Parts: sequence; C-alpha cells; structure tokens
Amino acid sequence: MERTLSIIKPDAVAKGVIGKILDRFESNGLRIAATKKIQLSREDAEKFYAVHADRPFFNDLVDFMISGPVVVTVLEGENAMAKNRELMGATNPKEAAPGTIRADFAENIDANAVHGSDSLENAAIEIAFFFAEREIA
Ligand code: ATP
Ligand code: MG
Repeated sequence: MERTLSIIKPDAVAKGVIGKILDRFESNGLRIAATKKIQLSREDAEKFYAVHADRPFFNDLVDFMISGPVVVTVLEGENAMAKNRELMGATNPKEAAPGTIRADFAENIDANAVHGSDSLENAAIEIAFFFAEREIA
C-alpha cells in the first residue's frame, strides 16, 4: 500500500471539476485517505515548489498556485504514486494522453489542473507538508 499527494490546482477548482477529478481517483482504485480545500500563501507555494526555484517559470508557477483555492488530497492504494501520475497525464496537456485528467480538464502547461508527487520520497515529504498523521484515515 502506497500513499501519494495530489493537488487539484486553482484552474480546475475554479472550473468546478473537483468532484470529477476525485472520481477519476476512486474509479481507478485509489482511496481518498484525506482531503481539504485550502488557500495557499505565497510562502507555502514557494516552499512547496522549492525544487523549481531556479527555473524561469518559478514566479509564474507560484503566482498561479496562489491565484485561488486548491484541493489537497492523500491518495492511497497499490502503486498509488505511479498510478496517480498515469491518471494525470503529461505536464503539458497538449501532450497528455486522451482520457487523462490533464487532457480532459487542463488548458496549458501553466494551468494544468493537477499536481502529483513524483517519487515515494517526495510523496512522504509533501503529505507531511499539508497533513498531520491523525488527519489521514
Ligand atoms: P507537478 O509538479 O505540478 O505535478 P509535473 O511534475 O508534471 O507537475 P514539473 O516538472 O514538476 O511537472 O513542473 C511543475 C509545474 O511547473 C508544472 O505542473 C507546470 O505547471 C510548471 N512547468 C513545468 N515546466 C514548465 C515549462 N517548461 N513552462 C512553464 N511551466 C512549466
Ligand atoms: Mg512535479
């Protein structure tokens, strides 16, 4: 059993597709172990995406992530990390496979609907960033 972190980004929350995206997870064998809607502060977003601090798109990414509320979710299941990445589709929605979340709900590489942890190590760090252990059931 693995755990991974998903974020439904401000574009998808604003579009009203929280339920549709959570359904993709549940319909594909991922259990929702914890979830909440929150507004990230600039400091939260900078800390969360610190690995990208030197990339040219960092400021735009932070601005976007704080442009509205997000939904953070702990997903649990067999191969949860890789399965979530598969359901998400490629970073650039134009390259995302048909039927993936980004192909169906994302506009472009900046507003790409969802985040998912990219390794088990990062999943543990990202889950601890948003949730206390007693909030995960
Ligand atoms: P995320 O970390 O959000 O799940 P990802 O793992 O598919 O996405 P990363 O390489 O970690 O992609 O990039 C983090 C985010 O930064 C992307 O989701 C995207 O919004 C933005 N990003 C990545 N590459 C670019 C780029 N070349 N131009 C603009 N934005 C980018
Ligand atoms: Mg990433």
